Amino acid sequence: MLGIGIDIGGTNTKLVVVNRAGKLLTQERFKTEAAKGPASFLKRLGAAVDGLRHDYGRQLVSVGIGAAGDVDPDRGVLRFAPNLGWRNVALAGPLERLTGLPCAMENDANMAAWGAYEIELKRKHDNVLALTLGTGIGSGLILGGKLYHGASGTAGEAGHVKIVPGGRLCGCGGEGCLEAYCGSKAIMARAREAIKCEDAFVKKYADPDRERFNTICLTNAAEAGNPAARKIWAETGRYLGMGLAGLILMLNPGCVVLTGGVSRARKWFLPAMLKVLGAQQIKTPFTRVKIRISDDADLGSHGAALFGLEKALK
Ligand SMILES: [Zn+2]
Repeated sequence: MLGIGIDIGGTNTKLVVVNRAGKLLTQERFKTEAAKGPASFLKRLGAAVDGLRHDYGRQLVSVGIGAAGDVDPDRGVLRFAPNLGWRNVALAGPLERLTGLPCAMENDANMAAWGAYEIELKRKHDNVLALTLGTGIGSGLILGGKLYHGASGTAGEAGHVKIVPGGRLCGCGGEGCLEAYCGSKAIMARAREAIKCEDAFVKKYADPDRERFNTICLTNAAEAGNPAARKIWAETGRYLGMGLAGLILMLNPGCVVLTGGVSRARKWFLPAMLKVLGAQQIKTPFTRVKIRISDDADLGSHGAALFGLEKALK
């Protein structure tokens, strides 16, 4: 029995086919091209899924979709996706009619959390908090071995937990959100303020084939001993620790999984983050919690496929 996993991102949409054990059988991607509208997207998604049905036929039993944005998992509707510019788009229903397969839809961070739970942790922990550290910060919760939705399907918006009253402006319109400090865009905004000459910095530290002022460049700089870069990463760790401390006190997870591009700079932000966690007064949840970093860039699509299978076969 196989499941299709779909991860709808701002730039690319990824499709995978995995088996129950999480083994990847195939993957492909196409450009999301959100500006062409949901109808065009659904047509192209339908064609891609048709191709997979042609290849795998009756072995396919389910579809799981993860999408960046506010998702109504009960109705399979993408309520709001700021980076796609879409509102109230039904995806699960049309895809079910097209394929005849049950189709589960969730926020992409929820699917990544499910991927972390099944693939990274092999279900060894029942209570897991997964944080996706990318341009934005998403999170998903597995509580008691189940994906936790909250009352409206919105649970796990950790990126918009406020950590600094009246602080930096966030993409959501609020001030002082965790994402406004620790999302990659926010990290680079803080770096831009700290570094005098951006061009020279990029020339010196960026990868030669990708001369851009980004978190890879900032990590290279820290590696080379640049004090401003090291300071920015340490600050990032402190902010992340502050956000995480509140979440750990609230949820008492057995494991926190950090994933996404920013987590690759672990060497430079993790010590400061752990220091904040270690300084909390209620000690037990912090001494118990395992912090793991996953470099698996496909947790979202794999998690979506496995979650679809889980729901269909339950
Ligand atoms: Zn926010």
